[in-house]
Amino acid sequence: MRDLSDELLGWYDVHARAMPWRVPPADKKAGVRPDPYAVWMSEIMLQQTTVAAVSAYFHRFMARWPTVGDLAAAQDADVMGEWAGLGYYARARNLLKCARAVVAEHDRQFPADHAALLKLPGIGPYTAAAISSIAFDLRHTVVDGNVERVMARMFDEHTPLPAAKPILTTHAERLTPAERPGDYAQAVMDLGATICSPKSPACGICPWRDPCAARAAGTAADLPKKTPKKAKPVRHGTVYLARRSDGAWLLETRPESGLLGGMLGWPGSDWVDASLPRPANAPLSADWAKVDGEVRHTFTHFHLILDVMVATVEDDTQGAFLPRDKFRPSELPTVMRKAYDLAQK
Ligand code: SF4
Repeated sequence: MRDLSDELLGWYDVHARAMPWRVPPADKKAGVRPDPYAVWMSEIMLQQTTVAAVSAYFHRFMARWPTVGDLAAAQDADVMGEWAGLGYYARARNLLKCARAVVAEHDRQFPADHAALLKLPGIGPYTAAAISSIAFDLRHTVVDGNVERVMARMFDEHTPLPAAKPILTTHAERLTPAERPGDYAQAVMDLGATICSPKSPACGICPWRDPCAARAAGTAADLPKKTPKKAKPVRHGTVYLARRSDGAWLLETRPESGLLGGMLGWPGSDWVDASLPRPANAPLSADWAKVDGEVRHTFTHFHLILDVMVATVEDDTQGAFLPRDKFRPSELPTVMRKAYDLAQK
């Protein structure tokens, strides 16, 4: 399999995508080593999120907290606020826990060891493999959606995902070289993202066009096969935006466990199945008015529709009101920001 990895690495040396967290292959050959902190940060942010969405967040985090020690010493609320809009907020909570564990247990150095990485908060098998290979050049195989697609095509594998995952992982492991495994991992991902794209693979310019079984069979655009997903259920609920006449907003920090855990949000009802009556339980007694329209947001496992109620209340109304000068809509998670935007209309 050495020739296949050599061919791909030769392509990567010329065509590697520029990424803010990546050491380009020429610099790597000149002896520049990746910063494990930057690699870890990027991998956590990239879980379930695109490169395009992550870049600005990555730059902001690295500018504000340039080392793992800086991040470990940060205020939880500052980190959660900076993460707002990136979604999957458990990642932000684990980011902090992991930074603090690296400081407390590993002398501020990410361990160059797959098993030790796996024990850190928020680092699962995929992320441990990515950090091991990309940051430390250890021979571990990274298998994301891009890699699965490339493997399904290279080996003309027609078993549908997710059942095909173990087969595709075995193929990917067999191709992973002992030399430059970090560059190789990034090369396969780049190939999948730029040439072996989901709908129209550019086989004519692919470094693996000759050995590729799906190209030879004419099946590339149909792979990987996927088992159809079930339709997501719809839930609904109500949020309440209370504003004091001095401009302060009634907000709550959501419970640590559960969706949007630890994030700021508007008080509101539970989110229940759309077949049930829409729940309503205002956080305080006020002259509530329903805003025209509704908020629609999609989470991993369901679609959410929210009614938005607004009220202006007296200055002396008690509760967790956030003063006007402390309130930054950008620090709200996206669904809560949508409710705020709707209320502004
Ligand atoms: S030849 Fe085509 S299908 Fe095969 S790996 Fe390359 S781009 Fe993908």
